Amino acid sequence: MITVLSGGTGTPKLLQGLKEIVDPSDLTIIVNTLENDYFSGVYVSADVDTVLYTMADMINDEFWYGVKGDTFVTNERLKELGCPELLRIGDIDRALKIQKTQLLEKYSLTEAVEIQAKSMGLTSKIIPMSNEDSDIKIITDIGELEFHDFLIKHQTQPEVLDIKFSNVSPSQGIIESIENSDAVIIGPSNPITSISPILELDGVKDALKNAYVIAVSPIIGSDSVSGPASKFMKALGIEVSSVGVASLYEDFLDNLVIDLKDDDKKDEINQIINKVTITNTIMNSFDAKKNLAQTIIDSIP
Ligand code: GDP
Repeated sequence: MITVLSGGTGTPKLLQGLKEIVDPSDLTIIVNTLENDYFSGVYVSADVDTVLYTMADMINDEFWYGVKGDTFVTNERLKELGCPELLRIGDIDRALKIQKTQLLEKYSLTEAVEIQAKSMGLTSKIIPMSNEDSDIKIITDIGELEFHDFLIKHQTQPEVLDIKFSNVSPSQGIIESIENSDAVIIGPSNPITSISPILELDGVKDALKNAYVIAVSPIIGSDSVSGPASKFMKALGIEVSSVGVASLYEDFLDNLVIDLKDDDKKDEINQIINKVTITNTIMNSFDAKKNLAQTIIDSIP
């Protein structure tokens, strides 16, 4: 049994490889919900939906958001009606979001996602990290911004001074899943806005201390592969490098996978954690994803 902690881009890339190597029914994926909110009248749990689509081979893996080949008829019509959407939601994707919104009238988010995963034929356990909505604010040089405003309206351009998010309770099953796993993989997701929210849940860090934990650095050299992770780490005074990632996870991490390009950082990281694995971590092909997944699985004692 393997537990994976995931955001909505870096880790889903790894999941595409992992699900070819590990029986998907042996995978539990705990997914960030920090950015969940209502948009255009539907509940959007972006990272959870990305993981659902990834596991169902439906993901638009150009943008890591929405369904591959989706159409945007409703989105276009809303624009014509003078009601443009902040989040561009595709027609097929909207169906999942409408269903989730309806399910939430009767069920928790965890239960709703379990129902959806089953109806999509998935055998992995996909657990949203919390059933409660978080409140996240990005403090920038132009003021306090909602996460999606920072991301979409402002295209991550403002200088980030701080990031604040509220604490929420873990969903049922998260701690048990970590405790019962042979290993926990922290995928190469944004350490601040995708992984930290999961780590901050009550009991998660303690459970990780007793588990074999292997992480993949989302930082190569002195920058993130994509997205605002480096900006967020800098704002919080964390070195933007795989060394910074090691220091963030040092309390419970057993093995950090870093990229070949970071070979020179191995000794420094070894002073923080016991084991460093060096391999190609740039997942720009199916083979690269599978190879990285295989290296991770092979390193589990
Ligand atoms: P979000 O929810 O869309 O912000 O996505 P995640 O938090 O899951 O992933 C964003 C992180 O993935 C960024 O920090 C990237 O640096 C990292 N990332 C994306 N692609 C790759 C890759 O191919 N290799 C590695 N090592 N990191 C990646």
